[in-house]
Amino acid sequence: MIIRETTCKTALIRSALPNLDYALNPYKGCEHACIYCYAPSVLKYGGEEKWGDFVEVRKNMPKILSKELKSKRKEPGIVGIGTVTDPYQPVEKRYEVTMNCLRVLLDRDFPVSIQTKSSLVLRDINILKRFKRCEVGFTITSIDEHIREKYEPKSSSFDEKVSAIRKLSKNGIKTWIFLGPIMPYITDRQGELEKLISKIPPDISYIIIDKLRLKKGLWKNIELFLSAYNPELIPIYKDLLYSKNDYFLEVKSEMVNLCRAYNINCKVLF
Ligand code: SF4
Repeated sequence: MIIRETTCKTALIRSALPNLDYALNPYKGCEHACIYCYAPSVLKYGGEEKWGDFVEVRKNMPKILSKELKSKRKEPGIVGIGTVTDPYQPVEKRYEVTMNCLRVLLDRDFPVSIQTKSSLVLRDINILKRFKRCEVGFTITSIDEHIREKYEPKSSSFDEKVSAIRKLSKNGIKTWIFLGPIMPYITDRQGELEKLISKIPPDISYIIIDKLRLKKGLWKNIELFLSAYNPELIPIYKDLLYSKNDYFLEVKSEMVNLCRAYNINCKVLF
């Protein structure tokens, strides 16, 4: 893993994402190395290093953020932390950039919305519970650990994520889950989605569900993953992802029924 310390000129940027006013990303690059990562396409990343092999640490971000908030150039608003790359990827343990940014935001009473795949967020629970408005979302793709390890190698396990959700909720912090992307014939295998839904803690506010989307340049990664996982799925995926069909409509209806049966609020994005 290549880790580079860098600096930034701006901390908070306006966000176009729903329900967020600002985005704050302490890191560029992500050690979690998920095979389906959309970040390179969002950032229009065209560098030579493979995504997942490097992280740039925006070391001065807490200072810049503090200056921005003191100058009152930024009106209070909801700050999405880790909108592009994970704010609690392993390197955060050493650099604590996310933690120090949280301290600054807490001082100025800016609400925060965090999205992560790591239980490292629990380290900051004493800061998080002091916010008037704070929520933590966990991305979960599969309950099957063999798949998760191939799919998003450095993220926390399913059990660690669930236990982190319980702990955060117990401490009064709102939690939610992003379930996805759903990988046809892998994460939605017979009975898998029900197993997963049945393990979701009841204190969760809602779950958002999405399917695999072929962002620019992503097919290469998916094909590589499938050739190791089950090459027979390659033509099936091509057919599913590049043609009109009802596959995901059926998955959607299954998810809606499951969430209803387990009394979970859900929003399906497809
Ligand atoms: S955690 Fe998010 S940003 Fe990091 S590699 Fe996975 S999908 Fe990409």
